[in-house]
Amino acid sequence: MSGGQTGLATVLGNLPGLPPPERYISVAARKLDLEIKDIHNIPSVRQLHQTVSPVTDGARCHDILKLFLEQADLTAIPVIDEADEPHALIERHGYIEYFSRPYSIELFGKKTLAQLKDTVPAVNLKPIVVDARTSIDDVAAIIIDAGMQHMVSGFIVSEAGKYLGVARGHDLLHHITERKQAELYYLAHYDQLTRIPNRMLLNDRLHMACREADRNGRLVGLMFVDLDRFKQFNDTMGHRFGDLLLQAVAERLESCIRGNDTVARLGGDEFAVLLQQLDNANDAEITAQRIVESFRQPFDVLERTVFVTASLGIVIYPRDERLSANLLAKADAAMYEAKQSGRNVFRAYAPGLTMHSLDHLSLEADLRQAIGRDELVLHFQPQVNVATGAVAGVEALVRWQHPLRGLLSPSVFIGIAEDSGLIIEVGNWVLREACLQQRQWSRRMDPPLRMAVNISAVQFRRENFTEMVGEILHETGVDPACIELELTENIAMRHADDVLNKLRELKKLGINLAIDDFGTGFSSLSYLQRFPFDRLKIDQSFVRGMGDIPANKSIVQAIVALAKSLSLEVVAEGVETAAECAQTSVCACDEMQGYFHARPMPADDLLRWLAARHSN
Ligand code: C2E
Ligand code: MG
Ligand code: MG
Repeated sequence: MSGGQTGLATVLGNLPGLPPPERYISVAARKLDLEIKDIHNIPSVRQLHQTVSPVTDGARCHDILKLFLEQADLTAIPVIDEADEPHALIERHGYIEYFSRPYSIELFGKKTLAQLKDTVPAVNLKPIVVDARTSIDDVAAIIIDAGMQHMVSGFIVSEAGKYLGVARGHDLLHHITERKQAELYYLAHYDQLTRIPNRMLLNDRLHMACREADRNGRLVGLMFVDLDRFKQFNDTMGHRFGDLLLQAVAERLESCIRGNDTVARLGGDEFAVLLQQLDNANDAEITAQRIVESFRQPFDVLERTVFVTASLGIVIYPRDERLSANLLAKADAAMYEAKQSGRNVFRAYAPGLTMHSLDHLSLEADLRQAIGRDELVLHFQPQVNVATGAVAGVEALVRWQHPLRGLLSPSVFIGIAEDSGLIIEVGNWVLREACLQQRQWSRRMDPPLRMAVNISAVQFRRENFTEMVGEILHETGVDPACIELELTENIAMRHADDVLNKLRELKKLGINLAIDDFGTGFSSLSYLQRFPFDRLKIDQSFVRGMGDIPANKSIVQAIVALAKSLSLEVVAEGVETAAECAQTSVCACDEMQGYFHARPMPADDLLRWLAARHSN
């Protein structure tokens, strides 16, 4: 034997817990037939088996070792004692890989013999591998946890700890790698929650669809779908509810498309729909309309029935954009337009739409400073009495005068404010500012204007919310009877008793309470009877098209009847046309609000608008 070989044997012999070299090496020789099965059909091993008889003679052992070291394709030799107990694995290059017994936490990674000698405590020297019960994933976990780059080989032992053979580590690793690769592909290309393609796979398919369209002269449609007020569901019903709702939405979207089209989840409550091989752009709009309509059906989640709506933006390749990478941003811009025009609709991309792919994080950082820098502003939208035409009140709607991005709509930043907790500061600022404004106006207006302020569910749920409101009322000296808080139905989705108590406390302050966006959230109306609301605002999605969509008109009429039976006043939101204005009267709404009368405007403009209206 050469010096190196002797060295190996010597080191092994010195390893604590192992039988003396002569014995275990000979055992290894006896067991070579088992290895032949596992270490493939390496001829030299077979040869070895034939030539080396099972002896305990030290010289024979050295022969085996010598052969092992000479055979480049022989990966390892296991070391087993006479009782068939595996002890170690002699591996090429003087490494030994140890694996703990399946249920032992102890695990030794890949170490040189010298390192092993220093670090391994003698008592734990049971260098056994995984057994039949150990799943391939566990093996992978062991390998990875131990920080090993690869696994050369390992013992296979029976349940009783008997040696069964050598597992070819390379094969195992190969197998693991293949499986992991498939998993990784899945992880990288599919959304974990909904199991539909994610943004990455969408981009791939979009790119391919555009190439295909170039070849056959057809069109590709891309839709950006954003759920309306999804965050409120998530906040009030819990994340599990939100998750299941998203899964249901994914299914609903898939039910609206053809087999070779793709629905993908972009993240959060954003989805995309890729329509391939379109003959004309109109086909995309037909699908969009089908999606909007499919959302008229409620979703059943965790034994609740809820209504969710979506806003859609459509872009057509190559009509609107020739670069496939820019398509999604344009669809997003169109979706944003849909949101602006009252949600629950679709909009097609038109040149000149502003791109709103805003960087969430930088916006959050900016928002932190916005209040201190006086960048938030309130606009006010009149609420008009249907019977008399008198202006009964205004709704305060916040905007953010961003130094670089211009005037931002609340739909861009309220969600960010809610996620980051900044909504408390923003909300308090809005309430205080609205109270100050109301008080200032009331000095010269008789009767005074009612001031409505939107309250996010996140604000409302704060323990000290009522106290905060009380403080602001006190501090600003406003007449509480002139202040109205607008809350969405979703605040009442959980802990109805707590909500009821809070609403009663708020009422004790002398303020008014309104339900905002009614009809879009929780479908059970029973709680309405118990809650001390004064006014109900019908969501604009029902008011829109009230003149020509019979369903909308009957929904509005039903809501009005319900509200009246509960002595609530009714405000129709989003009245845009003369026809819709006329319908509010037909449906016996008390008040209306919408672009037909006026858009939200700064305080000064509102005064001018009121004056002009008065003189008419
Ligand atoms: P909202 O409370 O339902 O407010 C009504 C929204 O509809 C306003 O959008 C208003 O500009 C818009 N609108 C009014 N009339 C019409 C119409 O005839 N046609 C159309 N297409 N839209 C109309 P805005 O100002 O963008 O506010 C969006 C939402 O942001 C509000 O919905 C409200 O939920 C939220 N928001 C606004 N200000 C605040 C605030 O200070 N605090 C909180 N928490 N949320 C706010
Ligand atoms: Mg509102
Ligand atoms: Mg509303």
